[in-house]
Amino acid sequence: MANLIASQPALCKMRNESYLRMNTMSKAALPARRRSVLISGASIAGPALAFWLDRHGFDVTVVERAPTIRTGGYPIDVRGTAIDVVERMGLLPPVRAAHIASRAMTFVDGAGAVIGRIPIYEAIGSDTGRDVELPRGTLASLLYDATRNSGVDYRFSDSIDTLHDDGAGVDIGFVSGRQERYDIVIGADGLHSRTRHLVFGPEESFSHSLGFCFSLFSMPNDRGLSQGGIVHADAGRTAGIWAVQDSPSDVPPFLYPLKRRVPVFYGFGLMG
Ligand SMILES: Cc1cc2nc3c(=O)[nH]c(=O)nc-3n(C[C@H](O)[C@H](O)[C@H](O)COP(=O)(O)OP(=O)(O)OC[C@H]3O[C@@H](n4cnc5c(N)ncnc54)[C@H](O)[C@@H]3O)c2cc1C
Repeated sequence: MANLIASQPALCKMRNESYLRMNTMSKAALPARRRSVLISGASIAGPALAFWLDRHGFDVTVVERAPTIRTGGYPIDVRGTAIDVVERMGLLPPVRAAHIASRAMTFVDGAGAVIGRIPIYEAIGSDTGRDVELPRGTLASLLYDATRNSGVDYRFSDSIDTLHDDGAGVDIGFVSGRQERYDIVIGADGLHSRTRHLVFGPEESFSHSLGFCFSLFSMPNDRGLSQGGIVHADAGRTAGIWAVQDSPSDVPPFLYPLKRRVPVFYGFGLMG
């Protein structure tokens, strides 16, 4: 209460000063209003876009359905121009430090006997020494950390419920009940984007199944794997385990069972 009373004269003075300043400024000299942007989804695309929009003078809010940044995930490659972008963001040192340096993918037959081994960077056409492979969650956290302390406003455990674009702006109703208006709304909420659904309709109109079923989870590394994986490919399905870092004892491998009508190795290759 004391603070409130003490602050009243200061507030009035500020108001008077800004009133005077406004009156003496020509209209052309008035600072342009920062355009507001709402990004739905705080994974890779959302925080990366928030970083650049914030740098370019937008007021950025990111709304994420999960209670915090989702840190799980598989190895993800940052290659080619993505390296240039990461460098311009000033994130190359921590991204490089998180490089998991996978070595080889070993193929086994149904009995577990080795039938072939491919150096991983040759298999995926990687630029060794430049490209980086790091856990998805690490990349998401780095992007989040690079934006959370700047002007970007993160709101977790909420999402867009309704969206109305009247041409001049977009009225958003959030699941939490909040109502807000933004100049621009961007969907970065993944493959099954709710934002896309709200704007363009059901995803069946835009997505086309290639026939893959893909399941991935972490498990104890009781095979002593390090910096590489073992894959068994059979007609129409593939299973594999993958150790994502140096230490085989405390880093679980990932399992990739796949099912597809065409040779599954291509499916595996597509995913990084
Ligand atoms: C095995 C594997 C390996 C891969 N390797 C690579 C690779 O090497 N290189 C590469 O470029 N890509 C790779 N990918 C693809 C990459 O992971 C995805 O392209 C990337 O994660 C997509 O990021 P995103 O931010 O667009 O969406 P997502 O990662 O799908 O994130 C969407 C976010 O939106 C949130 N969300 C969802 N719905 C809502 C909602 N209604 N409201 C608010 N928030 C919501 C989610 O919680 C999530 O945080 C790989 C994928 C797999 C499966």
